[in-house]
Amino acid sequence: MTLPRPRPDLGTLEGYHSPQLDVAVRLNTNESPYAPPAGFIDAWLAAVRDLPLNRYPDRHAGPLRAALADRLDQPPERVFCANGSNEVLQTLLLGYGGPGRRVLVFEPTYALHAHIARITATEVIEAERGADFLVSATEAGLVIAAERPAVVFLCSPNNPTGTVEPRATVEALLAAVVDHGPALLVVDEAYGEFAGWSAVELVADDVPLLVARTYSKVWSMAALRLGFAVAPAPVIAQLDEVVLPYHLAATTQLAGLEALAFDAEMRARVDALITERHRLTSALTRLPDLTVYPSGANFVLVRVDGDAHALWQRLVDRDVLVRDFSAAPRLEGCLRITVGTPAEDDALLDALRESLEEAA
Ligand code: PMP
Repeated sequence: MTLPRPRPDLGTLEGYHSPQLDVAVRLNTNESPYAPPAGFIDAWLAAVRDLPLNRYPDRHAGPLRAALADRLDQPPERVFCANGSNEVLQTLLLGYGGPGRRVLVFEPTYALHAHIARITATEVIEAERGADFLVSATEAGLVIAAERPAVVFLCSPNNPTGTVEPRATVEALLAAVVDHGPALLVVDEAYGEFAGWSAVELVADDVPLLVARTYSKVWSMAALRLGFAVAPAPVIAQLDEVVLPYHLAATTQLAGLEALAFDAEMRARVDALITERHRLTSALTRLPDLTVYPSGANFVLVRVDGDAHALWQRLVDRDVLVRDFSAAPRLEGCLRITVGTPAEDDALLDALRESLEEAA
């Protein structure tokens, strides 16, 4: 028997590899270290009991979109919900990418932007971030003018560097996609709540901007898979055209809706993680042989002066898992550390001190 071969253009894809090792302290995938509030779990489970499970879910997730729109001070026609922001991005490229079209990414950045582009047969153009990992609006404008991408991805706060782009850069990129478009600027704000400002406030029907967000981080709901987009109403209508019908489970829709009632608890979690990020960052800065990059997210990137992969292994041997980016282009020597609970971060810092001493 001969099985058919997959699409030849998929042959060079590397896939998504983040080792899931069984260790005590997991600081490798930027999840919240805190469980959602107990009150949320009770309210959600009670509502799930009343669901008509024999029926397909609300195809447009109407109440969830309306509640999110209200919270974001936007009309519901500008909101789209999906299974994590990854599905938002995939749906976007099904509608706006594809053969003959290009996306622009600023490297180093979230690998899934280029990965989903390739899966949807969209050509990927790579521009470079500066040494401080910020995007130069002037250089970006030149690349947009020359390459005419259909979609420009700007990740802010950027994964894995933590870099937050100023509003002026987003506005300059918007001007460039208007001048050299038609094109869409996508600001991936998976970590937006940890930063000082959000591009959601710039979304309007006559602005070619889509902002992608998620419940995975700040709402402590990574297991439930819920993300959303805020974009001009015609773009949202296009996403609704290409996404699979009934893609968002009724249980997920309810979770998203019920969570919004726990705003104060969510805000407290975000504030605690920001405070802890400051504590972790200053402790890391005091360690030898590390460069610590400024972060507006719930993780911190460090560059190791020495063998970063060996250091990563020493941490694993001490039951601490961080993300090893040392073999990634432009991230030589880099490890990314998710902000955990104070106890988890203390365990990391102890393990790091011992490991750095051992290596010296
Ligand atoms: N965007 C960025 C920048 C991310 O880091 C992640 C999660 N790693 C996502 C999107 C996807 O998150 P989710 O699908 O869980 O919403």
